[in-house]
Amino acid sequence: MQTTTLPLASRASDLVGSVIDSSTSLLASQTHDIVRFAMGSPAPEAIPTHVLAEIGVREIGAEAPDAFDYAATEGDAALREALLAQLSGTTDATSPERLTITSGGMQGLDLAFKLFVDPGDLVVVESPTYTNGSATALSYQADLLEVPVDAEGMQVDRLEEMIGSGRPPKVIYTIPTFQNPSGASMTLERRHRLLELANRWGSLVIDDDPYGMLRFAGDAVPSLHELAAGDPLVLSVRTFSKIMAPGLRVGWVDAAPELQQLLINAKQAMDTCTNLPMQRLIAGFLRGGHLNEHLTTQRAVYRARKEAMQAALTEHFGGEARWTDPEGGFFLWVTFGPEVDTERLFEVALAEGVAFIPGNAFSPSKQFPHALRVCFAATTPKRIHEGVERLRRAVDKVTS
Ligand code: PMP
Repeated sequence: MQTTTLPLASRASDLVGSVIDSSTSLLASQTHDIVRFAMGSPAPEAIPTHVLAEIGVREIGAEAPDAFDYAATEGDAALREALLAQLSGTTDATSPERLTITSGGMQGLDLAFKLFVDPGDLVVVESPTYTNGSATALSYQADLLEVPVDAEGMQVDRLEEMIGSGRPPKVIYTIPTFQNPSGASMTLERRHRLLELANRWGSLVIDDDPYGMLRFAGDAVPSLHELAAGDPLVLSVRTFSKIMAPGLRVGWVDAAPELQQLLINAKQAMDTCTNLPMQRLIAGFLRGGHLNEHLTTQRAVYRARKEAMQAALTEHFGGEARWTDPEGGFFLWVTFGPEVDTERLFEVALAEGVAFIPGNAFSPSKQFPHALRVCFAATTPKRIHEGVERLRRAVDKVTS
């Protein structure tokens, strides 16, 4: 048989994919019962399907054919207006000339890296970081610099040391609040320091914050967006995926007004506009005041689930592993001793009926072979206990 060499672009080999996203199809193909700590999804029973169905009849039902047309690239007027009102008075308050509706948070990241990264540019990412964020930077052929994260978020003093008098980063990618995957939040002091460094170096800060509205403990810290007070070097990426539902695939970017036309031009070459029926559905949800109510319910649910996860971990792994203590969001980061290789553990755990994401998925240079991420948000406390018990059995098998 003749073999053909495909004329692929050089960037094709920089498309590294996502272990997280691949777990969706991997899990869908399993036929046995699995406790799913893998995907970062909201609680399925907390999705307000009844309210959405009612709004759907009105906004995208038989009487609303215009909801199925193309939309304006910057976002449908109804959603833009409702979102501006929703955010007004919050740490993410914005204005029309800064706001672009996107197809999920991922498109916001793609647009940001696309506009700012040339091949070979230095991009700072946290270590560990959100896999798809670093993968997007790599897709534009960035050189990555991984800066460690501790309980207070990115170690900004280490970042300064690592750069020293060398080449400054073009972009600093951070998930400052309830970080994916560690759950850590950057302190106010570090946020200020990061913005100072970005200004000194002329670096763009991508402020990726899908979880900030899901605080269930501790005191609020202002967003990087708020602290930047209009500084054009901060571009904020937000999404409805965690606060409402990921299948909607709608998010937004808040950026300096001088970037809006570039964002629109780039988005027009990607997908023309964001799915209009979903924009209308979300606009109706926001206008009806449902999001605030929904956030209140979700915060209580997630607090209980985080506590259940920590209690189960203490019961089964107390003294043997350590884990983080997030004040919001979806994730706990668990670190085992050197005897546990979490990529090997994954296979055994899957057979035992529990799924998570191995730590190395969150580091382009694979610095976390003994850690793993669990999402506590999507699973009831009872199932969380069951899942951790199964994890215990899997760890016993790989270490015996
Ligand atoms: N950034 C972070 C930190 C995330 O956790 C996620 C979703 N897992 C995204 C961006 C992407 O959001 P979306 O699903 O809306 O594309």
